Amino acid sequence: MNNLAVKPVSNPEKIQNSSTSPSPVAADANGRVSIRGLSIHYGSGNQRHVAVDTTNLEIAPGEFVCLLGPSGCGKSTLLNSIAGFVPPTEGVVLVDGKPVKAPGPERGMVFQQHSLFPWKKVLDNVAFGPLMAGVSKAEAEQTARNFLEIVGLSAFADRYPATLSGGMQQRVGIARALANNPSVLLMDEPFGALDAQTRSMMQENLLELWGRFRNTVVFVTHDIDEAVFLSDRVVVMSASPGRIIADIPVGLPRPRDPEIVTNHEFLEVKKHCLELIRQETLKAFARQNQNVED
Ligand code: ADP
Ligand code: MG
Repeated sequence: MNNLAVKPVSNPEKIQNSSTSPSPVAADANGRVSIRGLSIHYGSGNQRHVAVDTTNLEIAPGEFVCLLGPSGCGKSTLLNSIAGFVPPTEGVVLVDGKPVKAPGPERGMVFQQHSLFPWKKVLDNVAFGPLMAGVSKAEAEQTARNFLEIVGLSAFADRYPATLSGGMQQRVGIARALANNPSVLLMDEPFGALDAQTRSMMQENLLELWGRFRNTVVFVTHDIDEAVFLSDRVVVMSASPGRIIADIPVGLPRPRDPEIVTNHEFLEVKKHCLELIRQETLKAFARQNQNVED
C-alpha cells in the first residue's frame, strides 16, 4: 500500500483545493473490519456500565467510516475494541477475518492529543513503529523521513513535539501511524483540539492521504460537518448504552473541497444526522436528570 514515491500533501499552511480522485482499492486489499454481536461492559455488579450494546458493523477495505454520536455514547470504546485496547465482554471484532486480541501494527491509532513521546524528536517518534517492527535504524529513519515529507514536516524532523503547534503535532501523529503501513487507521477525534481553520485544513490533508494510501479509516467524531465531509458512511450511535441507530451512506463526489458544504446532498445528510443526534442528546439529558432525582 505504501507507495513512497509520492509528492507531499499540499502545504497545510495554505488552503488549496486538494488532490485528485482517490486511487481504487485493490481487489485483494486488507483492512476489512467485522464487528459481530459486540457488547462492552465496564465495572461489575451495580457499578456495571454497558458502554457498547450488541453492535454489528461491517467495514470494507479502503472505506472511510465516521462514528458519530453524543459525548459518552461509546464511540471511543468501540474504536478501542478495534484497536485491541478494550476486550469484548460479548461478541467479537475481526480484522481481515482474525479476532482482535491485542493492539497490532496493522491497526494504526491517532488520538486527540498527547500521543507523541515528548522526550523523542519528531523523526524518532515516526521511526519508532518501524524500529519496533525489527527493521534497521537507518531503514526506520528513512521511512520516517518519507512520511514526514508526505505530511509536509521534513523541516521539523529534529524538533521535539512540544515545540510544534497542535496541528503539526497531529500531522506527526498521522505520519507515525502511517509509517507502520497499517491496513486500518483508527482516529479518535484527532482534530478535536484544533482551531476551526487548522481543523479544516487537516481534514483536507487527511482526505488527500487517504486518497493515496486507501487504508480503511474509522474516524470518531461528534462533529456532524466533519463526519459528512470526510466519510463514505456516517454510522450514528445512540446515547448510552451505545448502539448503532443509523448507517447513512454519503454519496458526495470525491475529491471533496470545503465548498461541498453547500451541496444539496451534504445538507440533506447533515440534517438527518442533526435530527438523530439531537434526539439522542435529549435522551441522554433526560436520563441524567432522572439519575439526579433518584
Ligand atoms: P465517547 O467516546 O462516545 O465519549 P466512551 O466510549 O469514552 O464514549 O465512554 C462510553 C461510556 O463508558 C461513558 O459513560 C464513559 O463514562 C464510560 N467509560 C469509558 N471508559 C471507561 C472505563 N475505563 N471504566 C468505566 N467506564 C468507562
Ligand atoms: Mg471519546
